[in-house]
Amino acid sequence: MPSEFELIARHFTRPSPAALLGVGDDAALLRPRPGFDLAISTDMLVAGRHFFPDDDPRELGHKTLAVNLSDLAAMGATPRWALLALALPEADDAWLARFSDGFFGLAARHGVDLIGGDTTRGPLNLCVTILGEVPAGGALRRDGARPGDDIWISGELGGAALGLHHLRDGLCLADPGRTACLARLHAPEPRVALGQALIGLANAAIDISDGLLADLGHILECSGCGAEMAFDLLPRASGLAGSCDPALARRCLLAGGDDYELCFTAPSARREAVEQAAGQAHVGVTRVGVIKSEPGLRVFGAAGEVLDIEERGYDHFS
Ligand code: ADP
Ligand code: MG
Repeated sequence: MPSEFELIARHFTRPSPAALLGVGDDAALLRPRPGFDLAISTDMLVAGRHFFPDDDPRELGHKTLAVNLSDLAAMGATPRWALLALALPEADDAWLARFSDGFFGLAARHGVDLIGGDTTRGPLNLCVTILGEVPAGGALRRDGARPGDDIWISGELGGAALGLHHLRDGLCLADPGRTACLARLHAPEPRVALGQALIGLANAAIDISDGLLADLGHILECSGCGAEMAFDLLPRASGLAGSCDPALARRCLLAGGDDYELCFTAPSARREAVEQAAGQAHVGVTRVGVIKSEPGLRVFGAAGEVLDIEERGYDHFS
């Protein structure tokens, strides 16, 4: 059985050109570029809670990094470095090879160096700390929304949650929606380029990891405002349309987690610039509502009626 150090050398030691010193010493050494702030975040995936223990390790490697990249995307930061803390039930070489393949595949696409971590025996647990750079003072935050701002959403919502329902409750999702929803759940694409392109355009941003209502709710709370949103304008994952019951579709759309799209607000004078930024980032964006000074979130139906919304986002402790 390989030792802890053999495993690290084999699976997690790669050149790290963006660091002064990477894996192998007691700490890594970094030197952020002058004129940039450091953006740092950490996100943990726990077997049985965030994923099934027998999920494809290559997709897990991807997702472990992707959910962290998504947090930097929401800040408009450019990802540069990552640390990886793993608890593993056993030293499974084949599993680790696939896991690191998924991890480094996504890392390479975003120019992220793995510069350290920790590896221990224990119940399967995957934790990344991500570091990135953002122009000094320019980070996108949750507290910058202003009354009159448009509310925008990237991509489409609900697919990952529907994919999870399909796996857990044996929902009969048909293709091509099924494949798309499962890809959304297992291999999300963090909107890194869009986040960077929104610096100077968006007033506030968040990534949608716990569901639209919960995450937009965080922007409203941090910014001290409310919002109005049109239900019919929400961009829906293709799988939601035909193949499931309307109540479930609505729940996935409003409160489903794991989509890792961006929700952001921007002054209406910047509509064209936002569309252009999204085009450059090769991501669709949809305008779904407007920020109001009155607190609370009101969702309108097709006839202009206020919808009674009971759905809530994901909360690990409720
Ligand atoms: P220490 O005992 O000083 O904490 P470790 O023996 O835990 O150091 O780790 C040795 C080196 O390997 C360190 O540079 C650490 O950052 C790195 N490392 C450990 N686990 C991982 C991992 N899963 N991915 C990347 N680097 C790792
Ligand atoms: Mg250690």
